[in-house]
Amino acid sequence: MSNKYRDYDNYLKEYPDENGYFGKYGGNYLDDPELIKAFNEYAEGYQTIAQSAQFIAELRRIRKDFQGRPTPVYHCQNLSNLLGRTQIYLKREDLNHTGAHKLNHCMGEGLLAKYMGKKKLIAETGAGQHGVALATAAAYFGLECDIYMGEVDIAKQAPNVTRMKMLGANVVPVSFGLKTLKEAVDAAFMAYSKEYHDAIYCIGTAAGPHPFPLMVRDFQYVVGAEARSQFIEQTGHLPDKVVACVGGGSNSIGMFTPFIADPVEIIGVEPGGRGSALGDHAASVTYGKEGVMHGFNSIMLADENGDPAPVYSNASGLDYPAVGPEHAMLYDQGRFNYVTASDDEAIEALFMLSRNEGIIPAIESSHALAYAIREARKGKPESILVCLSGRGDKDLDYVVEHYGYGEEFLAKMEAARK
Ligand SMILES: *Cc1c(COP(=O)(O)O)cnc(C)c1O
Repeated sequence: MSNKYRDYDNYLKEYPDENGYFGKYGGNYLDDPELIKAFNEYAEGYQTIAQSAQFIAELRRIRKDFQGRPTPVYHCQNLSNLLGRTQIYLKREDLNHTGAHKLNHCMGEGLLAKYMGKKKLIAETGAGQHGVALATAAAYFGLECDIYMGEVDIAKQAPNVTRMKMLGANVVPVSFGLKTLKEAVDAAFMAYSKEYHDAIYCIGTAAGPHPFPLMVRDFQYVVGAEARSQFIEQTGHLPDKVVACVGGGSNSIGMFTPFIADPVEIIGVEPGGRGSALGDHAASVTYGKEGVMHGFNSIMLADENGDPAPVYSNASGLDYPAVGPEHAMLYDQGRFNYVTASDDEAIEALFMLSRNEGIIPAIESSHALAYAIREARKGKPESILVCLSGRGDKDLDYVVEHYGYGEEFLAKMEAARK
């Protein structure tokens, strides 16, 4: 295992640099001068305000009283016994308020908006998970909230649209182009470039131009920091492997960085979808290469023109054609490893956790668990700590319609392994 890092504080001093670069990845490649001004103000605000003792104390109190942190680390004894000798543990972000890790950075962004004197939060959403988390933060802080969403996604994601409206957010339909996430991103950026005096833009993952990858990493760091001390307290040692699913890379970067200086193997699980051809997966590190999109340099899936390639996964929170720049750097350095789990493997993991432990995970999180199950079947006496990024309530209709209740699907997967 290659590990050049001796402690986390030194790592933090080195990365990112003042322009938001993690090695050669990151930065700000926007060309709209208004947006560049807006992002400079944002980075400045983040670097001064968010380091103040008052900000840190207030965020800590919010995490405890409103979000219900710390979330537990749970030893899956039934599942571990079923699989053999490997011990599987879960960091239960599904028990974070609103049912996933996304609220961790949304509350941080909302608090920053308040300290910067802004009145509105702006974002786009695809499946609606980020929109719901941000609408929750806006309600808490008494801020206005504009969520840009493609008309096609609005029709597909009715329950989340209802939630956002219930929370008082303004869901703005985007009706140009393919009317999905990509157009929603463009519309939200356009709105931000006009409204940044009164509003801040809130990204949904650890990607985008500086300062987003840094800021979201810092707000998600709590996940791994809690998990690390909880795990040590329960077992007396570090886990052998730490695992999380990777879309843009927010739950994973928060889970991973606190372990960076430890003798622990770190594995990001990307959505392998239904095959390895471009358009059948969203495994950006596994199949992608260096490039610039959405205002930052990283490893990504691009078409022959360098534009974002079409991506697919049965987990809509994972179908992003790039990863955050910190992932790209730590992959190059050999510190983080990336593997894939397919649609079917994720669903198998979802059913196994539901039936053996009484926990229904999100399909996104099930990708991370699927890798842990694959490893556990090898029968090594080791421990694997998995970030269970969210709960599966949002996925139930989809799962039942496509895969049933589990019995037949699990038998089919079992037969295929023989
Ligand atoms: C959005 C989402 C993800 C993927 O996003 P990352 O930024 O890669 O963490 C993973 N799990 C759940 C439950 C999500 O809602």
